[in-house]
Amino acid sequence: MSKSISLLLKAAAFAADRHRRQKRKDHEATPYINHPLEVARLLAEEGGVRDAEVLTAALLHDVIEDTRTTRRELERRFGIRVAALVAEVTDDKRLPKQVRKRLQIEHAPQMSRAAALIKIADKTCNLRDIRERPPKGWSAARRRGYFAHAMAVVDGLPVKKHTVLAAFRRVAKPRRTAKP
Ligand code: NDP
Ligand code: ZN
Repeated sequence: MSKSISLLLKAAAFAADRHRRQKRKDHEATPYINHPLEVARLLAEEGGVRDAEVLTAALLHDVIEDTRTTRRELERRFGIRVAALVAEVTDDKRLPKQVRKRLQIEHAPQMSRAAALIKIADKTCNLRDIRERPPKGWSAARRRGYFAHAMAVVDGLPVKKHTVLAAFRRVAKPRRTAKP
């Protein structure tokens, strides 16, 4: 088995274990792991990303933020670059939510290109989820608020042309169907 496949499978199993008791916020309470798997799939299949370390970081992108996993542990298990990419897309949960949201926008321009692609894929999947399986109890205003924030973050990222960005734009601003 190639090193890349082994790294990806190890990350998928690790993320599944760390997120094992978590659910998404939709009505069906979808298992949380579906989301990181979809972010990595989007990058690979729709975005043509072939860098196994970037796809590995995508599988792990929420483990520091949402589980008791540390950057050091990721360094030990998956290497320095994967751990650094996950750290780049991780919010500091000790800060109040409004501050975290502001910092996501402020930090966007300084992100590496690889981390920015993961961030765009993450936001794309979340916007698709809000359209297809929205969080329970979210008003239309709250959904719109999330879309506006995602657009502000992605606008500041250092990726201006990529198929992943095109996928984001399709869900963020769907074109009206032409009138007959
Ligand atoms: P949250 O951060 O509370 O929730 C969104 C996050 O939940 C996503 O980023 C995603 O994170 C995760 N998630 C889990 N399940 C789903 C799903 N089915 N669909 C999409 N995301 C999911 O949202 P915000 O605080 O950003 O709220 C959105 C906007 O609403 C804000 O901009 C704010 O202005 C406003 N707001 C309104 C409130 C109100 O009660 N009216 C309260 C708070 C905010 P991940 O990728 O990490 O899993
Ligand atoms: Zn995510």
